[in-house]
Amino acid sequence: MRILEIRERTVPLEGGVANAVIDFSGHTVSLVAIVCDRKRCGRPIVGYGFNSIGRHGQSGILRDRMIPRLRAADPSSLLDGEGRYLDPAAISSTAMRNEKPGGHGDRAGALGALELAVWDLNAKLDDEPAYRTIARAFGRSTGRRSASVYAAGGYYAPGGSDSESESSRLRAELAHFRALGFEAFKIKIGGATLDRDLVRVEAALEEAGAGSRLAVDANGRFDRTRALEYARALAPFGLRWFEEPGDPLDYQLNHAVAEAYAGPIATGENLFSAIDVANLLRYGGMRPGRDVFQMDPGLAYGLTEYVRMIESLEANGFDRRQCFPHGGHLINLHVAVGLDLGGCEAYPGVFQPFGGYPAECDVGAGRVWPTDAPGFGLEQKTELRRIISDWP
Ligand code: MG
Repeated sequence: MRILEIRERTVPLEGGVANAVIDFSGHTVSLVAIVCDRKRCGRPIVGYGFNSIGRHGQSGILRDRMIPRLRAADPSSLLDGEGRYLDPAAISSTAMRNEKPGGHGDRAGALGALELAVWDLNAKLDDEPAYRTIARAFGRSTGRRSASVYAAGGYYAPGGSDSESESSRLRAELAHFRALGFEAFKIKIGGATLDRDLVRVEAALEEAGAGSRLAVDANGRFDRTRALEYARALAPFGLRWFEEPGDPLDYQLNHAVAEAYAGPIATGENLFSAIDVANLLRYGGMRPGRDVFQMDPGLAYGLTEYVRMIESLEANGFDRRQCFPHGGHLINLHVAVGLDLGGCEAYPGVFQPFGGYPAECDVGAGRVWPTDAPGFGLEQKTELRRIISDWP
């Protein structure tokens, strides 16, 4: 087995929505293809991976640094002991050669896309869905199963709107999600005044039916004073969780919110390394059995690093079912199922071509089932299949 070629391309993300901090319309995603010398039906087997939604492509880092290091490596050094599969850890350490520690920024997304393409390829070599390959690699059950899923939306319309039409838009959006089979939801907060956000939360709650079915996400928007002000105002709703109240690296702020707010808080989608997570556990006040971790393998060096994060959580008394990776897409569905995590998210209808699940994935009763398509099954997504098949 050997790699014939590694390609990367930057794909624009279909946006048109905004959260408290970000307008997604300028966002891009790095799609990586690893072509190997094994064939199926006369065509080379290709593994695909991408970083994640709501960030930027990493073409330069992949093209100028990581892919040349893999090309220069002894091909056998990139394989597992028996030479049958690519070794994700060996690929990661080779791609990271001569990189200093720390500074886990865009580089972590570049390697995330590359390393996840390895998992897609390895699963395709055995003609099985990636969750099985992942489960086997990390000693979990390989049986067919589903993941708990919630629908994320409730963005602010760019340009804004009045409070009444905002509320009816939110209710209609959640009603649509419910019709699709979702039973839990997440909306954005922090892009308006507290009073207006409370009107949004109340409108969403009317449709969600219970606080336990509705999470809110501030996208790291608040300073300590405002985070605590929101925590006080949100407490009576008994929400599913309060996500990223402050800057994701401000562990002291997170700690202060955890002390003041009895409900679950969620964070981690902007932590890109195991050491960042270790620091969150040391200083962030996260509570075993209650709070939610949203680290995303595609943003954080891939699955090899992600599993190190889970090991560190478990060593500190947390349960992997507290993990709901950020990024509502097929890769994280397979990760959540393969590693028995708490669940994953979905962004129905937005962030194409990467967001959401293909029609073949059953969604119902608040759960989503991966299909038996080989790998992550990205080719089952019509929009992605078009991009993959047009790739020269
Ligand atoms: Mg978030």
